[in-house]
Amino acid sequence: MPVISQHSETLALHAGSYRRDPATNSVAVPIYQTTSYQFDSTAHASKLFALQELGNIYTRIMNPTTQVLEERLSAIEGGAAALGVSSGSSAVALAIQNVASSGDNIVASPHLYGGTYNLFTNTLRQMGIEVRFADPANPENFADLSDEKTRAYFGETLPNPRLVPFPIAEVAEIGRTRAIPLIVDNTAAPLTCRPFDHGAAVVVHSLTKYIGGHGTSIGGIIIDGGNFDWTAKPAQQPHFNQPDGSYHGAVWGTLVPEALGAPIAYIIRARVVLLRDLGASLSPANAFQLIQGLETLPLRFREHQANAAKVTSFLEDHDAVSRVIYPSLFGGAEKALADKYLAKGHGALVGLELIGGIDAGRAFIDALKLIYHVANIGDARSLAIHPASTTHSQLSAADQLAAGVTPGYVRLSVGIEHSDDIIADISQALDTASAISLKTVA
Ligand code: PLP
Repeated sequence: MPVISQHSETLALHAGSYRRDPATNSVAVPIYQTTSYQFDSTAHASKLFALQELGNIYTRIMNPTTQVLEERLSAIEGGAAALGVSSGSSAVALAIQNVASSGDNIVASPHLYGGTYNLFTNTLRQMGIEVRFADPANPENFADLSDEKTRAYFGETLPNPRLVPFPIAEVAEIGRTRAIPLIVDNTAAPLTCRPFDHGAAVVVHSLTKYIGGHGTSIGGIIIDGGNFDWTAKPAQQPHFNQPDGSYHGAVWGTLVPEALGAPIAYIIRARVVLLRDLGASLSPANAFQLIQGLETLPLRFREHQANAAKVTSFLEDHDAVSRVIYPSLFGGAEKALADKYLAKGHGALVGLELIGGIDAGRAFIDALKLIYHVANIGDARSLAIHPASTTHSQLSAADQLAAGVTPGYVRLSVGIEHSDDIIADISQALDTASAISLKTVA
């Protein structure tokens, strides 16, 4: 009997159909390191291939270890079903390819992880999918850029470096009247925001970050809210309303609810068409590692957020810092977004601007002893990066500013070490950066 709870702490350990391994009674989730599954009979195999019965066929498409991860995360997000994939990047790409083909477009916020921005401006474009960028400060911009070829809207819950939450409910609502689903990347705000509660249709995560939590494994997930009517305006969603020649003419929007009793056409199509053809599967060994991370995510993320709040307070009072970027410090419309979408904490990414500009930024990073200098976020360890000299160094000064990256900007991904130690390391590095600022002023 699956455990039902409202609490993510319980769901992270118990949600879904797995209770113990049916073959051995193992409590820990086994790594089912297999490519294939023996069919009971030809009739059984035919039913599985025809989707009349759900079951294991081949690990490119499904795996029992990965299934535990999918069921638990889907429950935590309040979704209906999920698909584990090989990385967060493949989750984003497949989430869009599942609705859009050459000649179609999507409308996205420009405030995105750099890899996603590249996918949208280069690779999807090369595939014939146009990405139109809408400033989410006015959600109506999404409506203005939509037409009969718009297949999805896209935004990140908590994009860095600005850390201003995306207006999920406002954009989702605009989309629903047009039969356009909102896809939300919730990587930076697990647990604190549940995009389905605000009307999103699809949620993606890079599992590589907080959910894995230990910097060991790359993975991604796509979660279907089961809350979107893919057949409301058939011409707007051709992937779900036209016969699919690659699956003996299946019309996904109508076949799936009938066959499976749940409105999860989106995730079924992603699994049996896109994973079948593109093969970006999550390995069972990585799924196992990511389950270990997920089991303690609620505990860790509480600590991440508490430490981030303490680091923010410390930075606010520091002479070498001209500005601290953290959602609890916002005013006006940005505060309203933070209050609405980050009800259970403001995340664990903190931005700071050093008075001494680019030289101080470099000096700060070079002086860190405890905090790692890496491009990643969401590790249990505290991490830092100076975008102007690394991730954003190829952009012009104007483009850096447009992306929210000033010369002295440093991004911290606050970890779960003792807050005193994190702050002590930041403090000593700020002393070094201050010396640079003083020299710059002199
Ligand atoms: N989405 C966001 C918000 C990210 O920060 C990242 C990675 O940094 C990704 C997606 C891509 O995830 P992955 O590195 O697992 O491919």
